[in-house]
Amino acid sequence: MRAVVFMATREVAVADVPDARVEQDDDVVVRVTSSALCGTDLHMYDGRTGAVPGMVLGHEGLGIVEDAGPAVHRVRRGDRVVLPAHIYCGVCFNCARGDSAACLRVHPGHVGGAYAMPGMGPFRGSQAELVRVPFADANCVVLPGAPGDEDEDDFVLIADAWVTGWHATELAGVRAADTVAVFGAGAVGLLAAYSAQLRGASEVYSVDLIQERLDKAAELGFVPVDVRQGDPVEQIRELRRARPGARLRGEEEMAGVMAGIDAVGFQARDRSHLDKEDPRQVINDLARLVNPTGRLGIAGVFTTTDAAPAPEGGHADGSLHVPWATLFNKGVTVGFGRTHDRRYTTHLRDLIISGRARPSLIITHHESLENAPGIYDRFDRRVDGIVKAVFHH
Ligand SMILES: [Zn+2]
Ligand SMILES: [Zn+2]
Repeated sequence: MRAVVFMATREVAVADVPDARVEQDDDVVVRVTSSALCGTDLHMYDGRTGAVPGMVLGHEGLGIVEDAGPAVHRVRRGDRVVLPAHIYCGVCFNCARGDSAACLRVHPGHVGGAYAMPGMGPFRGSQAELVRVPFADANCVVLPGAPGDEDEDDFVLIADAWVTGWHATELAGVRAADTVAVFGAGAVGLLAAYSAQLRGASEVYSVDLIQERLDKAAELGFVPVDVRQGDPVEQIRELRRARPGARLRGEEEMAGVMAGIDAVGFQARDRSHLDKEDPRQVINDLARLVNPTGRLGIAGVFTTTDAAPAPEGGHADGSLHVPWATLFNKGVTVGFGRTHDRRYTTHLRDLIISGRARPSLIITHHESLENAPGIYDRFDRRVDGIVKAVFHH
């Protein structure tokens, strides 16, 4: 089969590799019709997370079940399915509680597993013609329709980008009428903002430093906040103070936001030197911006093995100096971590089927799988206005 293969730092190839096949009785093999490129793929591409040459990339796949092992009961050959990035067994102590990202069986000796991520198990990726799906009854979200229909681009975002964005709003406890700021307007950040909007947020601010992403945020109805124009915390406070309307007593002290989301992670930019990284920048900003009694959701990736940590503030082991006392004194609730796909995928699917949500509005590029090396390169260099690219297989 053809597949996108990691070769070396900043080098991928589309190559012939052995076909994915049923290896365990509860596996299926899916013929992929669409797969999406993710910022997390760049963590491998950039040599930050110890990817091994020959690894098949991609963790956001959609397709048709081609083959099923004898112990698979819930999905059949011919079913259209989306494959959540975080693989889980569905029945262990954590999965039984809905905490599927902390599955205890998928990668024995570790917590959780995923396609095509170093340290997350031996699972090959879905930027390929075929992909093996372990624990298939748990890891296939069955969908209506047929490949290439009007929902294809929406459904592929259930694999990771939208569930991660939605999970961020869960972590940040976004409720109706909340004021929300999302740092990062890549695919996950935009879809976190979109999820906040769906949940009834009254104001949604979208913070970034790339023009095309800020334009997309504005197009979707969020207030774009351009880090290149200065401190985003002060910008948001100014915008909020300038709003018309009566105030409750003391409300001027609450000119920050009630819910803040980090959709950037460890590759945050140092605001005083935008060409440099400082993994503490976003958490420092969010700690200043969030109102007393507010909530933070940290959905951007933080890695315990950063092969190239930033000189200021970066640590190879992921330990960071963060404003704990500010968060304590404000009484802020902070949530962290990977999305528990099991909790959300069916709900998000149904928001698409009902026509209530169109997350594919964030997709900017469609490519054939054979063009993967070029689009990885352009996405990595943040050129061509790529917010989210989807491969059609
Ligand atoms: Zn992803
Ligand atoms: Zn499990």
